[in-house]
Amino acid sequence: MADNLTPAERSRVMSRVRAVDTRPEIAVRRLLHRMGYRYRLHYSELPGNPDIVFPKRRKVVFVNGCFWHRHHCRNGQRLPRSHRRFWRRKLEGNKARDQQNLSKLRKLGYAVRIIWECEVAQICAGQGRRDLRHFLGPPLSRTKKQRISAP
Ligand SMILES: [Zn+2]
Repeated sequence: MADNLTPAERSRVMSRVRAVDTRPEIAVRRLLHRMGYRYRLHYSELPGNPDIVFPKRRKVVFVNGCFWHRHHCRNGQRLPRSHRRFWRRKLEGNKARDQQNLSKLRKLGYAVRIIWECEVAQICAGQGRRDLRHFLGPPLSRTKKQRISAP
């Protein structure tokens, strides 16, 4: 991108964009809710402040922006045209921090699922539901119903 801003200004602008534009995360939350799951949001007691947390199941889901978290997809590997060194260092730093948080979470006994921004549309269109259910286990409402209808 052509850029008249200093790296610090650009960073501020772009992080503000990200804070407002949380559509991928909301889409995933809606999907999980429709599937019958209940969860907590932005659980700051856990490393990396995971987006969606299932404390009893000891599972967390991150919905990661491809650019900010350096996904291996095209958008994730893109760098702004100016101040490339700054950006590379910043984004690689994000990625390293993500890795550290993942291993901390795993040490605490949490299983982690990362959903990338570029996968969200497909997952919400129905593909990936089974994978999520497999990861999370049966939704609460369903197990309750089964228990009630059992003889
Ligand atoms: Zn991606």
